[in-house]
Amino acid sequence: MSDTEIEPPAGSAERFLADRVALVTGASRGIGRAIAERLAARGAKLACVATRAENCEETVAACRAAGAEAHAFGVDVADTAAVAELVKSVQEEVGPIYVLVNNAGITRDQLLLRMDEEDFDRVVDVNLKGTWNFVRAAARSLMKSHGRIVNVSSVVGITGNVGQVNYAASKAGVFGITRSAAKELAPRGVCVNAIAPGYIETDMTAEIDEAAAKELKNHIPLKRIGTAEEVALAVDYLVGPGGAYITGQTLVVDGGLSI
Ligand code: NAP
Repeated sequence: MSDTEIEPPAGSAERFLADRVALVTGASRGIGRAIAERLAARGAKLACVATRAENCEETVAACRAAGAEAHAFGVDVADTAAVAELVKSVQEEVGPIYVLVNNAGITRDQLLLRMDEEDFDRVVDVNLKGTWNFVRAAARSLMKSHGRIVNVSSVVGITGNVGQVNYAASKAGVFGITRSAAKELAPRGVCVNAIAPGYIETDMTAEIDEAAAKELKNHIPLKRIGTAEEVALAVDYLVGPGGAYITGQTLVVDGGLSI
């Protein structure tokens, strides 16, 4: 280390989110749970959100076991008024938000001609409007904290996919929110980025039958399915020191699937 560099306090590199509040949606299982646990290991105070607070009990317990403060909240992310109330409660009960991870998402797959309006609307409402609801409700708090937003989209939002016009449209929309919010919030010191996971092993992909999973794996250059923890590590990077000068970007975590 040269004499012009300042040595960081011991342990700060690992716990760069010490006492900062991170709100993670879809934190009850899968990718959201892995993100919550990773941010807990960075010292963050977690606000874990799922459709019902009880669904986050295991995540909260795991975060606390890692020495972090963690709280569970329940809301339908598609409900604009309820999200505004929830964000207010998080700020009052846990503190000003520094990291917002919009991860809650659903699929309702069907071929274009067979997809009904309800399945289109619900997927867009949860995945796209849900992201907008939280970005809007937390924006003031993030501007004050010069915080970070990470929106979990999907490679399907880039490539499209058979049977997923609703999901692909919602996830492509998430890129639009990400880039626009990045431009609007940059002057206030907030970085906004997206993650685009490929095929990750969670409840969401558990229904894919064995033959289709094998076929899909063959198309992945790294020849394996990704893990929730690998997506969480990408979020970890964007909300940490490495992400300080990155905004409006998409980090693709797909083993090469989209190349
Ligand atoms: P998952 O295991 O099915 O978990 C979904 C999470 O979202 C759960 O915590 C669920 O809460 C929550 N959620 C769903 N609808 C909600 C709503 N209306 N309001 C509040 N919370 C809601 O999914 P995952 O595989 O971890 O996926 C997480 C994100 O990554 C999603 O946005 C998904 O689109 C994206 N993604 C996943 C993959 C993949 O291969 N798995 C690939 C690309 C992108 P409850 O437990 O309360 O239902």
